[in-house]
Amino acid sequence: MPELPEVESLRRGLEEFVVGQRVRNVEVLLGKIVSGRGTKRTNDESKVKNFCAKISGKKILSITRRAKNMMINLERGGMLLVHLKMTGQLVYKSNKDNSTVSGGHPIQLSDNKLPNKHTYIIFTLEDGVLYYNDVRQFGYVLYFDSIEEINKLGHFDDLGWEPLDEGFTLAAFTEKMKSKKGILKKLLLDQKVVVGLGNIYADEVCYEAGVRPDRKVETLSKKEIQKLYNSIIRIIPRAIELGGSSVADYLLADGSRGNYAHEHKVYKRGGKKCFKCGRELNKSEVAGRTTVYCGFDQK
Ligand SMILES: [Zn+2]
Repeated sequence: MPELPEVESLRRGLEEFVVGQRVRNVEVLLGKIVSGRGTKRTNDESKVKNFCAKISGKKILSITRRAKNMMINLERGGMLLVHLKMTGQLVYKSNKDNSTVSGGHPIQLSDNKLPNKHTYIIFTLEDGVLYYNDVRQFGYVLYFDSIEEINKLGHFDDLGWEPLDEGFTLAAFTEKMKSKKGILKKLLLDQKVVVGLGNIYADEVCYEAGVRPDRKVETLSKKEIQKLYNSIIRIIPRAIELGGSSVADYLLADGSRGNYAHEHKVYKRGGKKCFKCGRELNKSEVAGRTTVYCGFDQK
């Protein structure tokens, strides 16, 4: 599953290619993808019809993001809410020079052939085609007339701070941490606190901060909270800058693999040597997730 840096990288890559283009035609090959969220949704013909009618002919004005949701904003206020979930993939192919922009699930699954058996939506734009593929069909692409409509669903209600936002201050983070109890890693993974930290970045943040991921939050000192905060606001922008991590076969908008993976200090390094002290890194299960940390450098 992509984490925030990967989704942000995809957003930036797609934005460069599709903004300013008009949607000429929309073809929905699996209705449930545009019919709702969750696993129980089914194909809703009226929603499919509405989806196609509302998008066709409209120009793409921008692509924005909230947590791991992407919003493709259309003229006259409409927008597409895209969530790739586990295996969603967006691929844009230009008609002009055949250049391809892709992100989400690995492109090799689709064999570079487009559309393929996992293609469920085809947006024909003026200069190219945007495909939505999804092997396991957990993702969704929904049309809304306005952001207010999305807000009415409470879609963003439970989301915490964006690590890149101004509102995410040390004071606010400290206050939040002081009000919480439980395992640190569980809290870092909790999207109600800070969005975008998944298994990779939660471990990396704890390592850089010198704090064990299995620590109880209520035992953290002010200084340790500060170190965690500093690590979050350094690591996330750095990962975005480098295009995210290529682990979990996540591909970037330009088809290349993210290279923040080269900077991973602990993720997937269980049993290997700690870069700081040379001791073997511990690998265990914390908050239900495989977790790697240094038992010497992290307290
Ligand atoms: Zn160490």
